[in-house]
Amino acid sequence: MPEIIKTKELQKVYRMGAEEVHALKSVSIEVDRGEYVAFMGPSGSGKSTLMNIIGCLDTPSFGKYVLNGKDVSDMSENELAEIRNKEIGFVFQTFNLLPRATCLDNVALPLIYAGFTKKDRDEKAFLALKSVGLDDRIHHKPNELSGGQRQRVAIARALVNNPSIILADEPTGNLDSKTSYDIMDLFHELHQKGNTIIMVTHEDDIAHYAHRVIRLRDGLVESDEVNPNPTVVDKSAV
Ligand code: ADP
Ligand code: MG
Repeated sequence: MPEIIKTKELQKVYRMGAEEVHALKSVSIEVDRGEYVAFMGPSGSGKSTLMNIIGCLDTPSFGKYVLNGKDVSDMSENELAEIRNKEIGFVFQTFNLLPRATCLDNVALPLIYAGFTKKDRDEKAFLALKSVGLDDRIHHKPNELSGGQRQRVAIARALVNNPSIILADEPTGNLDSKTSYDIMDLFHELHQKGNTIIMVTHEDDIAHYAHRVIRLRDGLVESDEVNPNPTVVDKSAV
């Protein structure tokens, strides 16, 4: 079973009063372990809805979602939270860091739910921050960092639990282009290390780092193509 993510005719219907929004109409995709995939598509096409279901933040209305060989379509909130903590690392456009907490505490946060001791949490958080090049900023608060550094803290937080899948929804949406490329360097490294990465982006040059591009439109997969020539990150050129 090479695929880590498998959705079958996934549907999501949001109900708001009398109104219904059919955000996903029938999405069937498979992602193998270690793949690096970009989701693209116009605003409102269902990208975030699909990411939320893949990340076990939400459940489908109809259809099936199998994660790591386990059918998670109908799991309870508690069961989903457990899987989320174990399998998924999230990176968001707006970083979603706690403003009053230090970088170390922000990154250590997911480990509290996993039941690690304070000493273990701090040690793992330090190593995660080191892996994104921020070991000299551990006692800083988010507002004492640049946007790119904040996103690297968020990536360290996503990595700290050693998840099998990294999900990033518009990870460069709030960053300038130079900083965006630094974040793509980091994703490239994570991919090299064997992580499975799915990112949402509407920027072609960012999507081009991924090895496969899935386009959504109106809650359906419009295209699903291998990128034959992903942008190469050449550290020696920097
Ligand atoms: P994208 O990320 O591609 O912009 P979304 O998945 O956020 O698209 O949204 C898909 C559709 O579902 C849109 O029409 C949006 O308005 C609707 N939608 C998204 N989230 C909710 C929600 N929590 N409640 C109701 N409608 C929603
Ligand atoms: Mg979105």
